[in-house]
Amino acid sequence: MFESIALAAPDPILGLTDAFRADARPEKINLTIGVYRDAEGQTPILECVKAAERLLLESEKTKGYLGIEGLPEFLRLASDLALGDLVPASRVAAVQTPGGTGALKVAGDFLAANLRGSRVWTSTPTWPNHTSVFETAGVATESYPYLSADRKSLDLSGMLETLERDGRIGDVVCLHACCHNPTGIDPTRQQWAEIAELLASRGMLPLIDFAYHGFGEGLLEDRVGIQEISKQHQEFMVCSSYSKNFGLYSERVGALLSVCSTDQAATHVSSRLKQSVRSNYSNPPRHGGAIVATILGSSELRSQWEQELAAMRGRIHEMRTRFVEGMASTNCGVDYSFLLDQRGMFSFSGLNAMQVDWLRSERGIYIVGSGRINVAGITPSNLSILTAAIAEATS
Ligand code: PLP
Repeated sequence: MFESIALAAPDPILGLTDAFRADARPEKINLTIGVYRDAEGQTPILECVKAAERLLLESEKTKGYLGIEGLPEFLRLASDLALGDLVPASRVAAVQTPGGTGALKVAGDFLAANLRGSRVWTSTPTWPNHTSVFETAGVATESYPYLSADRKSLDLSGMLETLERDGRIGDVVCLHACCHNPTGIDPTRQQWAEIAELLASRGMLPLIDFAYHGFGEGLLEDRVGIQEISKQHQEFMVCSSYSKNFGLYSERVGALLSVCSTDQAATHVSSRLKQSVRSNYSNPPRHGGAIVATILGSSELRSQWEQELAAMRGRIHEMRTRFVEGMASTNCGVDYSFLLDQRGMFSFSGLNAMQVDWLRSERGIYIVGSGRINVAGITPSNLSILTAAIAEATS
């Protein structure tokens, strides 16, 4: 039965990581996968995470199953972190999920089962897994323009016009709360208000992917989109991930927060989310959620976390600035200062597929085909090699 099964296409980004590992050149640089790296090129365990794990090692009494929805304390704190007092807790149906991807999948299952006929609109471009996750859940996807033709700014009018013209009542619009992946381009507060208004007037449901909370401007600042949406929408969904901001990639911890218009609706929605969880993975893993809850629940660990998060954000920002300065000093003739308006780990560099290929084959510099750069992969020691190679590739 298995012999006739064709090979699946490799994941475009993870495939590049395999090629990077196999590359023997000592000066190779990996700017592909969306993982934070420090100045030494490592993905460290945060000190606050180590401290929380020490506490858990002493205090944890069981490895028994969690409830289907996850750790209650984690859910309360996760909801508070993403939503603050924008909506009353009683109107939020929340489940702990294996990463942000798990939250998106549970959301997709919920939409497929309970809002039949709704389509999910994703930005062009977007994180490629969005389409796969929603379609695997059985939800049709559509796309709206996001990036302007100059590939440097948000195409707000294209986005709004498409959604107004082609969107239907009950459709769902997937938005990146901050640090848009892959472009690094986020709406301003005013633009968020316009997006919120259009979706409200068309009866469309916002589904906000919150994978980089704290990587943009700060914990409160990065919530601006959610704040504007909450002013005009009684119902919306948030998929939070703690992979990046807590460095808990492999612990798989995330949360799906469904904001409902009444307490009763929240109870009903919660029961439906739990149906999806039960049939996907039964209940979430304990450890990652317990780490996040321990940190957010302790004023000392929380302030340590906020400092460590600010340091990650600061390093990315510094590398982005130094990259732009470095490119200017090569006199390559291309002005990269537009990168300074982008936020988070990613930047659309403007490099084309041929230049990306050349950088990989000739210089061992790995960049995604779209020209997306993981700025966190730049370090003080690889910066000059990188800028010189890009100047050569583009001249
Ligand atoms: N959403 C976006 C936009 C992402 O970039 C990522 C991860 O790269 C995720 C969701 C998924 O995050 P997680 O690793 O927590 O599943």
